Amino acid sequence: MTQPDDAAWIAATGAPRRESNAAAETRTVEPRPAEPRPVDQDGEAVDHGGPAVEGAQGADNAGAGTSSYPSYADETAPEMGPTGRPLRPVAEPEVLSAHGPARVIAMCNQKGGVGKTTSTINLGAALAEYGRRVLLVDLDPQGALSAGLGVPAHELDRTIYNLMLEPSTAVTDVLVPTRLEGVDLLPANIDLSAAEVQLINEVGREQTLARALRPLLPLSDYVLIDCQPSLGLLTVNALACSHEVLMPLAAEFFSLRGVALLVDTVDKVQSRINPDLKIGGVLVTMFDGRTVHARDVVAMLVERFGELVFDTVISRTVKFPETTVAGEPITTYAPASSAAEAYRALAREVIAR
Ligand code: ADP
Ligand code: MG
Repeated sequence: MTQPDDAAWIAATGAPRRESNAAAETRTVEPRPAEPRPVDQDGEAVDHGGPAVEGAQGADNAGAGTSSYPSYADETAPEMGPTGRPLRPVAEPEVLSAHGPARVIAMCNQKGGVGKTTSTINLGAALAEYGRRVLLVDLDPQGALSAGLGVPAHELDRTIYNLMLEPSTAVTDVLVPTRLEGVDLLPANIDLSAAEVQLINEVGREQTLARALRPLLPLSDYVLIDCQPSLGLLTVNALACSHEVLMPLAAEFFSLRGVALLVDTVDKVQSRINPDLKIGGVLVTMFDGRTVHARDVVAMLVERFGELVFDTVISRTVKFPETTVAGEPITTYAPASSAAEAYRALAREVIAR
């Protein structure tokens, strides 16, 4: 794979290139529920890709090596992914014997409707299937993350708003378990819309969320923060306490327009508040591999962000709106669907990075 040189890379992305992660794993873990191999249940585009891994149950690989017929495929040619690049091998996740400290990931894009909340829920659920302890943080006053997990946040007296703005609130007053084993939630509701204004007068206003989350970090393996669709003070709070930003981007031309501003914001937070912050990955969502348009957008993202673009892309499917109504992730709503398998593939990539 050709790579831009480091200077061009940094100029384009505002972030240093990541080293490749070649950690040799000894023990590995399968996702918790034993799933049948993925099938397309909705008749929509299923070209979600995802790296081929040993033991993965990808339909494309099923039965490989068991046929007595000769294979005419060139076995030395790497398998091409939906990003137009050869799939990078990804190690199976290691079995964890202890938990924490957490890797904090801000799911961030100032555009709405690009799959931030959907990806927060489903990446979180998939990480938990691999035995990771996950804390999901709803930082959008719309409370879509809470609703998507079946938590009636509008009925709650205490939410992340209280945790951030009332020092007397204990984290245990706000933390709620979800129906998913290993996944907890800090819920939000419309109260949080007042936070942006109130934070302006706080001392250390950008570090408010960091202070609130601190007691939970040693207990979790991953903290995923579902940001609101703006680059305001709440989002800056998320960036200030994150190790990395995961950018979900819809595979449509209009979604490229805000990327420079987002990268610029990450840069500013990195240089002024949080030197550890980096762009951890770019996730293509709402992908329809049948259209040239979607493939062109992905090619442009790969040109700009290189190996930061996950090999796994999330296809467009009506299953996701259905899961919102059901209040559960796709990994439990339709565990054998290609969409569920895509988020498992993403979880493997995130763990390996
Ligand atoms: P954001 O949090 O960025 O605003 P959401 O995750 O809420 O975006 O997604 C916006 C809408 O699109 C929701 O109705 C969701 O169910 C739907 N959606 C998300 N991902 C997909 C997808 N891959 N295919 C089809 N619809 C999707
Ligand atoms: Mg959202």
